Amino acid sequence: MSAPPIQTEVLIIGAGPVGLFQVFQLGLHEIDAHVVDAQSQIGGQCSALYPDKYIYDIPALPRITGLELVEQLREQIAPFKTPIHLGQYIQKLQALDQGFQVTTHTGMQFIVRSVIIAAGVGAFMHKELPLPELKPFRNQSGGPSLKTKPQVLSTLTKDVAIWDKEVIIYGGNDHAVRMALEAATKRDQNTEQSGSVSLVYRREKLEIDEQLQKSLEVALGAGLLTFKVAQITAVQVQNNVLNGLTLTDSQGNQLIYKCDLLIESLGLSPKLGALLDWELEMERKTLKVSPETFCTSIPGIYAVGDINTYPGKRKLILSGFHEATLAAFAVAQQIKGTGPIPLEYTSASTRIHKILGV
Ligand SMILES: Cc1cc2nc3c(=O)[nH]c(=O)nc-3n(C[C@H](O)[C@H](O)[C@H](O)COP(=O)(O)OP(=O)(O)OC[C@H]3O[C@@H](n4cnc5c(N)ncnc54)[C@H](O)[C@@H]3O)c2cc1C
Repeated sequence: MSAPPIQTEVLIIGAGPVGLFQVFQLGLHEIDAHVVDAQSQIGGQCSALYPDKYIYDIPALPRITGLELVEQLREQIAPFKTPIHLGQYIQKLQALDQGFQVTTHTGMQFIVRSVIIAAGVGAFMHKELPLPELKPFRNQSGGPSLKTKPQVLSTLTKDVAIWDKEVIIYGGNDHAVRMALEAATKRDQNTEQSGSVSLVYRREKLEIDEQLQKSLEVALGAGLLTFKVAQITAVQVQNNVLNGLTLTDSQGNQLIYKCDLLIESLGLSPKLGALLDWELEMERKTLKVSPETFCTSIPGIYAVGDINTYPGKRKLILSGFHEATLAAFAVAQQIKGTGPIPLEYTSASTRIHKILGV
């Protein structure tokens, strides 16, 4: 039996920097919210694309890394105890008499007065090899022949046993090579080891730095893993079990490799997915909003951060923070059904101090 819908005032779609700051701004107005994000971590682009890079244009912070900014935002919103549902990809939106029902890909449902879309450039999805035969072996609902654990993954997690498996990691990026080295070392440390670890990529030149290249060469020299320059062009399946891959090199030579675990490490690509079907007015894959309220073309649905557009829009974190502030005032006015909401300084308001517990 599926869980009953969660009833709350606002659903924020996206836990990137702007979605997180939106939590803070709604909290100041004492508006209850839940947040959903498709990723398994908060922080949007800051965590997924540049966690260790410095950002130099956040006011009053001369420099801060992507991850540090996310951690500071996490601390700032902690007093509100807002539930954040990770690994939930928003799919369906249905208008109700007073508000909306929103459903995620796992069937989680929310009944809310307002929706604030802070979806950035979209949900980051792992890129997949263009071989339809691999689909049933990925970790997704609807895989008809997936009776056992998935045999095609996007990353190697601690709970995946590899010591007895023929593992192929496909990819030439930092993530792929680090995973291959980790898998090879882990397997080497297991006394009952069998199977093998192979790194496969279509190009000889990998997209990694010198230090990682050296570590790879050492591991290859020690026979901990193999590296093959080839593309995966076909899949061998027996009794609904993936047991091999056809690798084709640049000369067209084909070789069948045993494989019972394939890791596709091709990087991330953002997908707006279902948000494009909600009949909201758009301009070049961004949502048109009023620059006063950040309301979209549907009353009750707001959009802040990289996902929106208005005259003069700049895709900056700073701009997103401003938008989240004004959107919170507009949502407060809509939900409370009053006139304009008065401005209160956080430095002076005893009401706000009480909420923040300071
Ligand atoms: C390499 C790089 C460096 C940058 N440097 C700077 C800088 O120095 N200064 C600066 O101001 N900006 C910088 N930016 C831009 C900045 O990161 C973005 O402006 C900012 O991340 C936008 O925040 P956001 O919350 O709107 O969206 P995002 O950070 O994109 O977060 C959106 C979140 O929404 C989730 N989501 C999307 N669709 C769905 C869905 N259907 N269901 C569930 N969840 C969904 C995504 O998974 C994601 O976590 C940089 C960007 C990059 C790529």
